[in-house]
Amino acid sequence: MHKLTTVAGEVHLKRFPAAHDPTLKAWDAADQWLIDRVYDLVPQDQSILVLNDEFGALSTALSANYQITHWNDSLVSQLAMEKNLTLNGYQGVHFVPSTELPDGRKYHLILVRPSKNLRLLQYQLNQLSQVFSGVAIWVGEMQKHITSGLKQCLNAYLDELNPGRSERKARIITGILKNAPFEREETFRYFEYRDVKLANMANVFSSESIDIGARFFIEQFSRLPNAEHIADLGCGNGALSVFASQKLPNAQLTGFDESYMAVASAKETFARNQLTQGHFVVSNLLNEAEDETFDLILCNPPFHQQRRVTTDTARHMIKQAKFKLKPKGELWVVANRHLNYHIDMKRTFGNLETLNANPKFVVLRSQKR
Ligand code: SAM
Repeated sequence: MHKLTTVAGEVHLKRFPAAHDPTLKAWDAADQWLIDRVYDLVPQDQSILVLNDEFGALSTALSANYQITHWNDSLVSQLAMEKNLTLNGYQGVHFVPSTELPDGRKYHLILVRPSKNLRLLQYQLNQLSQVFSGVAIWVGEMQKHITSGLKQCLNAYLDELNPGRSERKARIITGILKNAPFEREETFRYFEYRDVKLANMANVFSSESIDIGARFFIEQFSRLPNAEHIADLGCGNGALSVFASQKLPNAQLTGFDESYMAVASAKETFARNQLTQGHFVVSNLLNEAEDETFDLILCNPPFHQQRRVTTDTARHMIKQAKFKLKPKGELWVVANRHLNYHIDMKRTFGNLETLNANPKFVVLRSQKR
């Protein structure tokens, strides 16, 4: 836990999930500057909309004195914020998943932490411009992440853009949400793979075409074992779920993802392809499933947590899978060869088989014995 000192006092903040490196904090200089600037310039009790507050630092530090609504696509960020609020004895931040629009209240200010995936930010600004044009926006970002793509996106949606000055390697860019008649972005974009239409909201992994790892994984599905209940862990747009369901049409399938947009997209993928046996749940890991539920868990694990490249989530998924499988149940994982998940799977399950490999990917299987 670290102590963040702002012009209004102190808050205690933790990362969730916890970082291996105890020096890593749950905020950066851009968060700190935004908080100080709000306390300096914005009258108390105003309504503020906060976008993409990764560990809830902004929401927590401002919640004591402002009406905060936090709009984000990530359940993990939502949980981080809730933990940090509790840690400081605060409550009352209204969380809105990015699959819904923030309610129609009058916001005095919108604070933005740009998502790494600019398609999400562009979608969010597009949605907001339909309802909140004329509202002031402050975009806090570390200088190294201010790309030409980000500038273009802000230019498209903000008037009176002011790039501000750089301080402690951070910058606050200010503007006013344009009052232009933007066409509302479609909720889903679609692409086809092997006659299946895959639906994608703005924040979905590999939203323009099938991921090459997923494609290699699907090619192995002719060897799927018989299963009554399958889990697709980190289901994204539901690509693995669709092809597993086609292979095992009598199996019940549940997809889990921490992204609200991924779960909405997987549901839409199933609806579009007239598949009825899929059920999709917003969940951190498989926390929303009972132990010993599944005969088969399929997983194309994440290798990023927001901007950080990390295998921590994947390693958690492998360990937890053992508890969620029935006896004799199988975990199937596709991964980049160099990530060495075979070591984790062998250690967790005591057995391992390489089902197939190409120069980039391996498909691994372990059984709960
Ligand atoms: N299954 C899809 C495919 O193969 O195209 C998506 C795979 S993508 C590599 C990994 C997925 O894991 C992403 O959709 C991401 O949102 C999800 N994810 C990341 N962290 C997670 C967590 N803690 N709990 C559940 N899902 C998570």
